[in-house]
Amino acid sequence: GDSITLDGVVKQYKGQDTPAVERLDLEIEAGDIVAFVGPSGCGKTTTLKMINRLIEPTEGRIFIGGRDVTREDPDKLRQSIGYVIQSGGLFPHWSVAKNIGAIPRVLGWDKKRIAERTEYLLDLVGLDPATFADRLPKDMSGGQQQRVGVARALAADPPVLLMDEPFGAVDPITRVRLQDSLIAIQHELGKTIVIVTHDFEEATKLGDKVLILSEGGHVEQYATPERILTD
Ligand code: ADP
Ligand code: ADP
Repeated sequence: GDSITLDGVVKQYKGQDTPAVERLDLEIEAGDIVAFVGPSGCGKTTTLKMINRLIEPTEGRIFIGGRDVTREDPDKLRQSIGYVIQSGGLFPHWSVAKNIGAIPRVLGWDKKRIAERTEYLLDLVGLDPATFADRLPKDMSGGQQQRVGVARALAADPPVLLMDEPFGAVDPITRVRLQDSLIAIQHELGKTIVIVTHDFEEATKLGDKVLILSEGGHVEQYATPERILTD
């Protein structure tokens, strides 16, 4: 994984009286899972989307692995950052394999390499490649689709994985399974993972560190779950 540094990051949306993120300094260590938690509207999603430049910061700089990503081409940048959203975000009319291969195809990987990578990733997320590679997302459960979403985000082996409420839309039992497999993936691959959640229990279970935000992207606490739970 790569470290992520936010240096004086501000986001002021047009037409809003106050900034969504007022002035955020944050250091995420390489290989950590950091969970962003806080009430709805406190700026979690805005902050996450600024890291892969789906949203442009109004001020400040963001570094990934020491590189200033605010100076990079956003499309290139997004090919090197895995991104998982609540609904899975898969193309419904593309097979699982075609969904997972989307970014590698853009990057010009050959078919054999993409097929091997797809098989490896389906195994990793707990889906049998022989059963699922040719299936359409619409014929799969929410939890299965979310596993494919994770596999797709990991396709080009990005150092950083950003996840926005990734398990919010699945039932509680499936959610626990997905959380456990994320922890296993993290141990195997050592990615730097940022996960947005409104679920404090999920944050303390998954996070090596938990970032508690309040309105305006203010940092209330940034510490290990052990410290947060005993404070
Ligand atoms: P969270 O993810 O913590 O729920 P968000 O980052 O989505 O919070 O939103 C932070 C604040 O910014 C909220 O007040 C929200 O209404 C506002 N906001 C989010 N997106 C936009 C947008 N595209 N335009 C204007 N305001 C926005
Ligand atoms: P979240 O689950 O993060 O709270 P929201 O329901 O607040 O998501 O926002 C969903 C989408 O709407 C996001 O893309 C966000 O940028 C946009 N959005 C949120 N608040 C506003 C707003 N006040 N004005 C315009 N767009 C907004």
